[in-house]
Amino acid sequence: MPIVLGPLHHAPEPEVTCVEVATFLQIPGFQIVGLAGREVAEARERVRAAVAAMDLELPRRKIILNLAPAHVPKRGTGLDLPMALALLLADRPELRFAATGELSLNGSVRSVGRAVRSFIAAWRAGAGLLILPEGDLASLQACSSLLGATAGPGPAPRVRAVRTLREAMSAATETHWPGQWVPGPEMAAASWRGMPGVASIGPAAARLLAAAAAGQHHLLLLGPRGTGKSVAVETLIRLWPEPDPSRALCARLIQELREPYPNGAQGAVRKVGAQCTAASLVGRATGDGIFPGEFALANGGLLVADELPEWKRDARESLREPLQEGTVTLSRAAISRVLPAAFGLAATGNLCPCGAWPRSSGIGVCCCGLAERQRYLRRLSGPILDRVDLVHVMAGEVSSGPGWVPIAELASRVSEARSKLTARFALPPGAWTEARISEQLIAHPRWRVLAEGTQPASLRSLAKTLRVAVTLATLDGREEPTRGHFTEAACYRPERSIPRG
Ligand SMILES: [Zn+2]
Repeated sequence: MPIVLGPLHHAPEPEVTCVEVATFLQIPGFQIVGLAGREVAEARERVRAAVAAMDLELPRRKIILNLAPAHVPKRGTGLDLPMALALLLADRPELRFAATGELSLNGSVRSVGRAVRSFIAAWRAGAGLLILPEGDLASLQACSSLLGATAGPGPAPRVRAVRTLREAMSAATETHWPGQWVPGPEMAAASWRGMPGVASIGPAAARLLAAAAAGQHHLLLLGPRGTGKSVAVETLIRLWPEPDPSRALCARLIQELREPYPNGAQGAVRKVGAQCTAASLVGRATGDGIFPGEFALANGGLLVADELPEWKRDARESLREPLQEGTVTLSRAAISRVLPAAFGLAATGNLCPCGAWPRSSGIGVCCCGLAERQRYLRRLSGPILDRVDLVHVMAGEVSSGPGWVPIAELASRVSEARSKLTARFALPPGAWTEARISEQLIAHPRWRVLAEGTQPASLRSLAKTLRVAVTLATLDGREEPTRGHFTEAACYRPERSIPRG
């Protein structure tokens, strides 16, 4: 019996299904066992038709295919090809390989997506060879530079892309194959830096965005419509650091659970609007597997939360866990899974329900009452304001002029500051834990005096002021934050920046 490994889609980690085959001298028949879902059970007919179309022959015996581990549900059509190969090669016990692909009735092999998961699963399971549909090779190549961020027990599997069941048979049995592919770092990673956008930005926004991107601080931009909140967020996306390869790979694996054919862009920028629900943000776990939500998909990247005050209450509340813990818990009945969800938050919002306050020209006059406006802003309190480092009310820098900063120059300032912060503290201040902050306060008693001098509203506020001050000082090329940096950082606290009345 050969060892044929197929995908086990919907498991949180990339895992394999082992396709076991046994034949008996009884009336020819074909049975699949091992918690096969509907698509997997239907594979029987596709396998029969594809084998016949390719002029191949199934053993003329009673066949039982077992999909191990037998207690885990199997879904999807990616097991078609592994099952067909296990049957056709039932008398070649020395073979050991992994495969994924859907069979068409004419014997061609169709792509099922999730190529990166299949590759990592095959590697971790120690398969020396992965056979996959030709259409999936491109998505694997696009992640080539990330694949070294994980490791299996041996060298990475060789990859053979096939178009038909017959080609897959040759790939499984031949030891040399001209078209095999092995991952290498030579493939350039797709980057979100190349995204088009504005060429320069006003000085106030430039300072704020540089701080957010260099220190990886959570950001909340408030203000009436037409003050450039969207432009600022788009610019932040361009400045935000690329995730390191292991995080990017982790993001890609999670992304493939929900979107089998992710687009080429690596690293996650997820945009969520006012219509989102807590379920779509958090995701869900069912008996069939896990379906990650936007929080897990944004892991290692940036979550753009548009119109945050308009979000439903439970959706806003669901931000609490990822912002605090960097994880998200998917649970339903007895099933509970924790996924990584450490992202930077870039949120936007108006200051009143009509979106015109406090500006009264150009975009109309605000018709909301004081109580209405206060009620509106109270929606941001609690889980959000407590955890956001930079809160800024956009005043609308409408035209370019002196002092405007070219984005390319801003990007190089940010990257220089980020390198200095990484060299000095190993982690950007945005990612400092409470323990790390206490450490810094003990190591730098002067920082504590300066931070306390800004009269923070709470201990958490003091910590945020400190982190932002360190980032601002580094951006200015200084080792030590000055009183001015602390004062500037304190101006980004919500109790200072959000207008009252
Ligand atoms: Zn209004």
